[in-house]
Amino acid sequence: MSEKITQSADGSLIVPDEPIIPFIEGDGTGVDIWPAAKVVFDAAAKKHGKSITWLEVLAGEKAFKETGNWLPDETIDIFRSYLIGIKGPLTTPIGGGFRSLNVALRQILDLYVCLRPVRWFQGVPSPVLHPEKVDMVIFRENTEDVYSGLELEANTPEVKRLIEFLHDEIGWDIRPDSGIGVKPVSKGGSERLIRAAIKYAISKNRKSVTMVHKGNIMKFTEGAFMKWGYQLVKDEFSDSAVGWDDCQGKPGDKVLVKDAIADITLQQVLTRPDEFDVIATMNLNGDYLSDALAAQVGGIGIAPGGNINYVTGHGIFEATHGTAPKYAGQDKVNPGSVILSGVMMFEHLGWQEVADDIIRALEATIADKVVTYDFARLMQGATEVKCSEFASAIVDRL
Ligand code: NAP
Repeated sequence: MSEKITQSADGSLIVPDEPIIPFIEGDGTGVDIWPAAKVVFDAAAKKHGKSITWLEVLAGEKAFKETGNWLPDETIDIFRSYLIGIKGPLTTPIGGGFRSLNVALRQILDLYVCLRPVRWFQGVPSPVLHPEKVDMVIFRENTEDVYSGLELEANTPEVKRLIEFLHDEIGWDIRPDSGIGVKPVSKGGSERLIRAAIKYAISKNRKSVTMVHKGNIMKFTEGAFMKWGYQLVKDEFSDSAVGWDDCQGKPGDKVLVKDAIADITLQQVLTRPDEFDVIATMNLNGDYLSDALAAQVGGIGIAPGGNINYVTGHGIFEATHGTAPKYAGQDKVNPGSVILSGVMMFEHLGWQEVADDIIRALEATIADKVVTYDFARLMQGATEVKCSEFASAIVDRL
């Protein structure tokens, strides 16, 4: 019998063998990649005696057409109630009152971690010599920093008042024709993100957590993020993790917590990728870093993501690319990003064997050079297949 996923008193998820999981098909190429991914998910779950009841919820263009609302309340209520969900890409409505539907979902459900694992799969075309050295998991803060929506447009009455206030009360001189964005970074917001990254590193036997920041310049936001992180290690993780300064970089069998400046990090993830493992960072740094890293291991066609609140148990897993409207309905694009988002979701639910099987089958498919157009154009001797055929090829190898 199909049942809801629930949360136990200690915060862990209780996952039945036949869970009900809400999904958003997504706009544009969502009509291609979601059905392809679903075929893979159902086949892999079945192999392990499990089955998923998929519950469609509306958002984006489909929601607007059917309800006149881009993000209906019912969709939010269902995600709130069923805890875990998955989604395809969504169009950003112009003038819909949202920065983006994705940002709205993250903010409404307070999904404070954007989790982006970045690893290479055998055979995937890459622009670097040693893509196999890239195996990182990025914890990007989702609710603060310059993305939190606190912006005022130049020459509006509000920005003029703020400029006056900053001049009169704090003595800051800001050019009168400026727009202003506010960058809040709180202790609580930083701690919960870094706590999640350290717990993940401990539970997955990862070696280190690197806090990436620009604290040499932005001392009281990005610098404070790092300082609060090191204090958190001492206060909450002294048995299982240790800060760099407290062990001179020799952590023994504990997780090493270190930090790195954002600009040099963008160099070093290219030149010394094996020195990075779990990364904890603020919103904007995390945005740059996750796309730069995705490029090293095959690009956005196969970059998955999850947005998670580890306290309330809510999580929405998603393709990280957009709707690629020029390809919509052509059964052409790579469904890898949604498939790997599903892998992340299954790992999060504790269905490790289902996740592992999908990864193995995906790797075998790519190793056989059966790939969609995006990989085919970069590989010698590849067989280019449609989106749905790529999914069938994975199912054949499960
Ligand atoms: P995009 O949809 O990500 O597409 C950019 C390019 O990425 C495509 O032209 C294609 O490259 C490649 N690509 C995207 N999906 C692919 C896939 N599944 N397989 C292989 N290649 C893929 O970005 P965009 O055109 O800037 O944005 C379109 C819409 O999506 C906008 O409304 C934007 O706001 C929205 N968006 C949504 C999300 C989300 O829901 N998470 C994220 C980003 C953007 P080639 O042309 O080289 O083949």
